[in-house]
Amino acid sequence: MALFVVILDTGIVSAMTSSPAVNPQTANGHVGNIDAAALRRAVAESFDATITRLKDLVAIPGIAWPSFDPAPLNASADAVAALVRASGFDDVRTLRCDKEDGTPGGPAVVARRPAAEGQPTVLLYAHHDVQPTGDLALWETEPFTAVEREGRLYGRGAADDKAGILAHIAAYSAVAGVLGDDLGLGVTFFFEGEEEAGSPTFRSFLESHQELLRADVIVVADSSNWKVGVPALTTSLRGLVDGTIEVRVLDHAVHSGMFGGPVLDAPTLLARLIATLHDADGSVAVAGLVSRDNVTVDLTEAEYRADASVLDGVRLAGTGSIASRMWTKPALSIIGFDAPAVDVASNTLLPRARAKFSLRLAPGQDPAEAMDAVRKHVEANAPFGAHVVFTPGESGNSFLTDTSSKAARVALWALGEAWGVPAVEMGIGGSIPFIADLTELYPDVQILVTGVEDPDSRAHSANESLHLEDFRNAITAEAFLLARLNAEGLA
Ligand SMILES: [Zn+2]
Repeated sequence: MALFVVILDTGIVSAMTSSPAVNPQTANGHVGNIDAAALRRAVAESFDATITRLKDLVAIPGIAWPSFDPAPLNASADAVAALVRASGFDDVRTLRCDKEDGTPGGPAVVARRPAAEGQPTVLLYAHHDVQPTGDLALWETEPFTAVEREGRLYGRGAADDKAGILAHIAAYSAVAGVLGDDLGLGVTFFFEGEEEAGSPTFRSFLESHQELLRADVIVVADSSNWKVGVPALTTSLRGLVDGTIEVRVLDHAVHSGMFGGPVLDAPTLLARLIATLHDADGSVAVAGLVSRDNVTVDLTEAEYRADASVLDGVRLAGTGSIASRMWTKPALSIIGFDAPAVDVASNTLLPRARAKFSLRLAPGQDPAEAMDAVRKHVEANAPFGAHVVFTPGESGNSFLTDTSSKAARVALWALGEAWGVPAVEMGIGGSIPFIADLTELYPDVQILVTGVEDPDSRAHSANESLHLEDFRNAITAEAFLLARLNAEGLA
């Protein structure tokens, strides 16, 4: 996921629109006080080289999961550091923090170019670690050999998120090349090395390098555009809580023939309890959760069914627009179930069964309140008086943006100018937990989120790919953003 990120307090109603950007006057290739034509040309002239660099990065299978060899991940960090040096940065560091278990976290590349007097600093974030490939048989091409086909580049990490890294470096290089000494903007690159492993050391890393990473605007490249050819600014992310629900009925397993009938087994009762979590039309039935149905952009049922690969005849759940069900309403799923597998099943009444739930939270929902609401629900709906044990798990904050901020308005303009199509303000149903850490440590920072992905990018799945024309537009848009922030500041 590649992006720019913006913070918004309330008024989400105004967020989900294709907002009117601030359109400076255009004259002989200049847009307002920036030479847009020269920037567009600089991006175009270096684009082939940018693609070659991206292909070279895709070839390094840097995966931060503990079960994977760390050598390629270290090589990936080295390759990224070399790219940053080649783009003109002298102060380039590879840094890491230890995880709680004492093992080393993923290597991050940080490079800093201080701001001139009175100029803001922009931090450009992306991550160089990638998801594992999954089942190789599902890939049409070798995952770590980037292949161009019909205007797309296929390969693991081609979109998520090595394109984010190259977008930042290429945009900066274009601006530095065109503006030369007139570039006073402070620029910091922060390329994380463990995002796909849940960023286990992100918080301690931020705290250890708080001044090094301090900025006025943070551009986080790790999200998606609305469609191929239609740029988007991500204005909301859902939060997340998860945990386990265990149902206990008997002290131990007993013979189902001897005792079956007067008492129901634990898996049956757990299934009944799980069924109470959604109401008849499939909406989440847990009381007290934030839920909004006010997004104005939408996708059709056919588009959703195709993107999500819904099988024919399967009825969609929930009410309201599809986009609001994905972005501004809660969504609860069961992601794990502990009960004997079918192959080892025996004729016994099972004493206990356990399930893991994952609840996506509407933007603005307090995770602690949501976790408590689920606890209250399962305890109040224990079927047949079964003993219910609720164990809270992870929680992550939602994210709302403020599109009235200067950086956000310029970002919306830059996206529209680069693509020639007004940018959509969209939500993302997923979460980027570390953004909450950024807002906590830098409460005044303006965070922008957008991306190079599109609905066909298949991030985290087989045959991941990047749309090359959109990628070029994303680089151009970021160059416009940096140039305007350099010329106008944040006032
Ligand atoms: Zn990512």
